[in-house]
Amino acid sequence: MSPNSTLPGEEHRTTRASWLRAAVLGADDGIVSTASLMIGIAAAAGSRSAVLIAGTAGLVGGALSMAAGEYVSVSSQRDLEEADVRLEARQHKADPEGELRELEQIYRERGLDADLARQVAAQLSRGDRLSVHLRDELGLLEHSRARPLQAALVSAASFASLAVVPIVALLLAPASLRIATIATVSLASLAALGALGGHAGGAPMPAAALRVTVGGGLAMGITALIGRLLGAAAL
Ligand SMILES: [Zn+2]
Repeated sequence: MSPNSTLPGEEHRTTRASWLRAAVLGADDGIVSTASLMIGIAAAAGSRSAVLIAGTAGLVGGALSMAAGEYVSVSSQRDLEEADVRLEARQHKADPEGELRELEQIYRERGLDADLARQVAAQLSRGDRLSVHLRDELGLLEHSRARPLQAALVSAASFASLAVVPIVALLLAPASLRIATIATVSLASLAALGALGGHAGGAPMPAAALRVTVGGGLAMGITALIGRLLGAAAL
């Protein structure tokens, strides 16, 4: 059995790679940036309502900026893919024979002998020739094409839903433990999320959890320090 074949109960993961990436990025960012913002304001001796407003503004601004950023970045990926598709379509119009030979050559390089490569290329070219070339020559698969709108929506939704975590932590925290509660709840959620992301991506869970928790902890620590300094300077 080849290493690429799928066993029962085992699922290939690359098909969900693109939206998973957007979701994980949005979720981590939603917790880290919102919690850091709130902790910074709290460390500068901001009132509970100031911290709450900062968190809410952070949620809305962050989700929208996440959506815009993902849209732009995935769109440029999509533009590149579409330029490739147009170029390939032009080549097919200009030189169909050459394209058939190109396809034969691809199959020979993958290990078919000359006769079989010619047969395979000829048979596959009877249907949708262009998509055969897109797949076997350029590696463009329909299920893994760049989807700007999907990436934008997924990352904004995951950012907003996880940005709620530090806000709820603030609402439940006793006055003297605001910063500690926001930090603890946020870091625990980050660890859980990291483990989940690692699991979905097929990576070891403890390492994935540690990775996001250390990064998030650093971000919160640094903004707490800056908030404290700015608060002390009474800006
Ligand atoms: Zn081609």
